[in-house]
Amino acid sequence: MKAQDTTDGAAALSFFSGWTYAPAPESSDHIRLQDRYGLFINGAFVPPKSGRHYVTVNPATEGALAEVADAGEKDVDAAVSAAKRAYERTWSRTPAKERAKYIYRIARIIQERAREFAVIESMDGGKPIRESRDVDIPLAANHFFYYAGWADKLPYAFPNRSPRPLGVAGQIIPWNFPLLMAAWKIAPALAAGNTVVLKPAETTPLTALKLAEVIRDSGLPDGVVNILTGFGKTGAALVAHPHVNKIAFTGSTDVGKLIQKAVAGTAKKVTLELGGKAANIVFEDAAIDQAVEGIVNGIFFNQGHVCCAGSRLLVQEGVADAVIRKLKERMETLIVGDPLDKNTDIGAINSKEQLEKISSYIAIGVNEGAELHQSSATLPSKGWFCKPTLFLHTSQSHRLVQEEIFGPVLAVQTFRTVEEAIEKANNIPYGLSAGVWTDKGSKIFNMTSKMRAGVVWANTYNKFDPTSPFGGYKESGFGREGGLHGLLPYVHL
Ligand code: ADP
Repeated sequence: MKAQDTTDGAAALSFFSGWTYAPAPESSDHIRLQDRYGLFINGAFVPPKSGRHYVTVNPATEGALAEVADAGEKDVDAAVSAAKRAYERTWSRTPAKERAKYIYRIARIIQERAREFAVIESMDGGKPIRESRDVDIPLAANHFFYYAGWADKLPYAFPNRSPRPLGVAGQIIPWNFPLLMAAWKIAPALAAGNTVVLKPAETTPLTALKLAEVIRDSGLPDGVVNILTGFGKTGAALVAHPHVNKIAFTGSTDVGKLIQKAVAGTAKKVTLELGGKAANIVFEDAAIDQAVEGIVNGIFFNQGHVCCAGSRLLVQEGVADAVIRKLKERMETLIVGDPLDKNTDIGAINSKEQLEKISSYIAIGVNEGAELHQSSATLPSKGWFCKPTLFLHTSQSHRLVQEEIFGPVLAVQTFRTVEEAIEKANNIPYGLSAGVWTDKGSKIFNMTSKMRAGVVWANTYNKFDPTSPFGGYKESGFGREGGLHGLLPYVHL
């Protein structure tokens, strides 16, 4: 498109005038990555006993970033033994105030090295640098700060009870918010006096390994946190280890079910934060432009790789045409491309496998008879990318509406009454989150009390805070992370 000519001949700047943003790349020359990483066990990086390594790649370039270890059963055993020893000999005897100091120190070092963390997070996972810089890394530091504050106040958190730590926590995390999920898991565990063995996801191990460096530099006693890279088998070995007292898992509902089966009949405590298929509900009385921003944020933030993504849009009939027109226009302005460019809105899909999964869902949507709309963005020729996508005329029985896609794909439905919106919002296997857009406070209270969703955002979306609990109902799992509630899974009362 060309800039429009005005009557006096001067070129006017219209929103769709075809002006493009000049590249604004974040530099990555300050990043220090080793060619090959070992496992972080008992305060040091050690080669894996398994002898196996694999390559972690940049999903935006398909280029190799580093080799990381694939931990086997003997490695899991070494890490759990180190955590158990550290728990018995050191950490359970460390005064709470001292525990807090280490956790604060970890938070401070993350802040000091925030830029490095942000760039590595975007390189290894594909998310836009703006998000890793402004959301993931500051929130990860905030989680450590927040739980550091609780370490010596546990008797106030659980008045008239005597909170005691559990022992060794095995923690398994996904690839969508790698450092942030590590912080969600490690910070409350340490504050409550437990030791940790953490397994990051196979496609995003690098910021967890950087975190291992931070933990080493913080002077945290050896073995209190151990980090094992590897695949699902490593996670399964951690779940099965007899000296693990607690499992905290974030990931797919399928793996969550496997984990629950594996711990059945043991004394292990479990929390599961699983999939989601949130309804983002827009009423006729909502501020429509703000709602459109909220819809965009809800589904396109982090390429839609978000368990609480607003992946179903429920829009009231009277405003459906206007909302969809504005949404399509807004989608045209989204920049898809290099995650390290500060203008990028939608980065790379995390892996080839995930892109194939998303593409197969797009084909399913078309076959189910829904109307496909994608933005006209051009995608980079290398790397794994997906255009922002929406499907109109979907119905409750469509797989697009019922199943989690974990990509930038929005299923749109309409409704007439409040009751219909609630019915549709709840009629899925998941119950992690939801959004409500209206200018009526009473409607918000009505909706939030009737929707089976662990988190409901009103006139906003994807807002996270360490003080606020997060977790699901139904197949979205159980247990809460964040806030005071997030300490509960790490203590005996
Ligand atoms: P996603 O769909 O996000 O890839 P997964 O549930 O497959 O979710 O992966 C989340 C985490 O669970 C990853 O760290 C992965 O390695 C781990 N994992 C996969 N399979 C198992 C398993 N059987 N037992 C324990 N952990 C597993």
